[in-house]
Amino acid sequence: MTAAISVTGLTRRFGGVVALDNVDLSVEQGTTRALIGPNGSGKSTLINCVSAVDQWDGGTITLNGEELAGKNSAKAARRGIARTFQTLRLFDDMTVLDNIMVAMHHSRGYGFLSAVIQLPTYRAAEKRMREEAFELLELAGVARDANRTAGTLPYGHRRLVEIARALALKPTVLLLDEPAAGMNDAETVQLAELVQRIGRDDLSILVVEHNMDFVASVASQVTVLDNGHVIAEGTPAEVREHPEVLRAYLGASEEEL
Ligand code: ADP
Ligand code: MG
Repeated sequence: MTAAISVTGLTRRFGGVVALDNVDLSVEQGTTRALIGPNGSGKSTLINCVSAVDQWDGGTITLNGEELAGKNSAKAARRGIARTFQTLRLFDDMTVLDNIMVAMHHSRGYGFLSAVIQLPTYRAAEKRMREEAFELLELAGVARDANRTAGTLPYGHRRLVEIARALALKPTVLLLDEPAAGMNDAETVQLAELVQRIGRDDLSILVVEHNMDFVASVASQVTVLDNGHVIAEGTPAEVREHPEVLRAYLGASEEEL
């Protein structure tokens, strides 16, 4: 198997804080890996580096066999990477459908000018994109919200729209930072089903999540970070029993494990 994401010796410092210390992690093509760990352990920092939103101080990141040179997220998107953020980032005043279409326009190189001029080729592309956007919302289970203003949606639905928007970029690598945060149990199950559905040979997923039931239902492999170090790696069942993991989570509530 080839790795879609290969992180070797990754180090990221913020002043005196070593957010990532010599971290190794890989996601095999067509698989889903979960990244777990206590708050402040470096999960978001790792996602930010892999999506080239943030810089790093040492180590290498290789995506689909090509080494990532540094901070340049537009380039990363073109390389087939899409992500969601720990905090919601939708355009609240736009409709749900338009949120998806904006992402499509952007990634497919239709600028403002072509939208204004409205050439026939553009109108045909626009129609196709609208249909595709609606299909993505159907996939995410939020098609009924298509014409609502994004800001008026319940939180869990907005999170699902964010994933649909990330998929609009047709990624080969998808990074999800705590997608279930703030979701109720039913929404979390809906999210897990969505992540299972989108996982396929040409899409590899790295998902940061606390909820171990969620992790076990979507990921074949788990990496555990603590204080910027990888302290365990294995199947969900293996890491759940790992003594280092239990120690890192000591004091955490049962349901976090
Ligand atoms: P997690 O996502 O696992 O909760 P983070 O990756 O957000 O953890 O943070 C890891 C560590 O790096 C924390 O100590 C955090 O305070 C620090 N950190 C993250 N981002 C920054 C930043 N932009 N500036 C300074 N410190 C940061
Ligand atoms: Mg985080």
